[in-house]
Amino acid sequence: MSTSKSPSESLVVLDGSRGEGGGQILRTALSLSLLTGRPFRIVKIRANRDKPGLRPQHLKAVEAAALLGRADLLGAEVGSRDLVFRPGRVEPRDLAIDIGTAGSTGLVLQTLHLPLAMRAETACRVVLTGGTFNPKAPAYLFLEQTWRGHLANLGMPVALAMPSAGFYPRGGGRLEAWIEPARPRAWVRTTRGDLLRIRGVAGSANLREDVARRMRERALARLADEGWNVDVEIEAASWPSPGQGAAIALTAEHAGSAPATFVGLGERGKPAERVADEAVDELLDFLGVPDGAVDPHSADQILLPLALADGRSVYTVSRVTEHLRTNAATIGAFLDREIEVEESVAPDQPGRVVVA
Ligand code: AMP
Repeated sequence: MSTSKSPSESLVVLDGSRGEGGGQILRTALSLSLLTGRPFRIVKIRANRDKPGLRPQHLKAVEAAALLGRADLLGAEVGSRDLVFRPGRVEPRDLAIDIGTAGSTGLVLQTLHLPLAMRAETACRVVLTGGTFNPKAPAYLFLEQTWRGHLANLGMPVALAMPSAGFYPRGGGRLEAWIEPARPRAWVRTTRGDLLRIRGVAGSANLREDVARRMRERALARLADEGWNVDVEIEAASWPSPGQGAAIALTAEHAGSAPATFVGLGERGKPAERVADEAVDELLDFLGVPDGAVDPHSADQILLPLALADGRSVYTVSRVTEHLRTNAATIGAFLDREIEVEESVAPDQPGRVVVA
């Protein structure tokens, strides 16, 4: 990752194939470009992915950010591997964004959230249409429980609703967000509190009733086998949706922390039990590393607000991921902030993040 240093308007140049090499590099750059006023150029966008370049969902994030910040764009089309984004003035307001495919509404919301919250003078409402449950992206139930919980700890209130669920391939889900004006504050959390309870939602849309029930029963049985001496409650839900789909979210609540949510996602031909197993396995991995205060997905997502907060932040994570390392590098290209991701020699072990 290279950047020409100050003046603050200088072009930031990013290599989109570096590190994790996914859409996160682009989304973090969009948020930071809007907040700092610095234009950026990203080359080799998603070069190592199956379908390289901008996918419709990434293009929507670019277009939504451009709309919010009156940006000039070069190379903003599906398949493009080279994009220039020159922001103008951020004008926070209510936004309605239709992703047009089943692409993740949550990722677009996360792109816009900090520029809206940090620049707005009154609350803004954002309504997004697309996918609310996507692989490799924050599902609605993660956003509602976990992302929102972290943001509350950082002093950034957000309210969320999902009037309808969106799944691949049909999409058409709806995510609504009310974003309060706020500035993130620094945060220190290096230990994990006691496990208080595990809660869950097993839900489906337009599928046989037994799908949600079987996901729920499998998760309850597996967690009972593990012998966690806490309350476990999983509710079954039936979501309105234009399409079909199923998901289970399991949330661990520890004293003094944002809840940590792990999601299993259904797909055609995947048995309900396997969907539940995916969520249970991720939850057990997290519970098995008691030194990490923050779950692996939140770890890269909270780094951006913390890098924008005044003061020093420190948090431990149950696992250092490539997303976390890559986000630290992308943020470092825009902000004069020292971010250290400390990890043990063995891969996928707990680590510590310091924003100095
Ligand atoms: P990318 O793969 O670069 O498009 O970035 C994906 C983003 O989604 C990262 O911020 C991940 O932390 C986040 N993410 C991926 N999987 C999950 C999940 N299961 N729960 C919550 N967030 C996720």
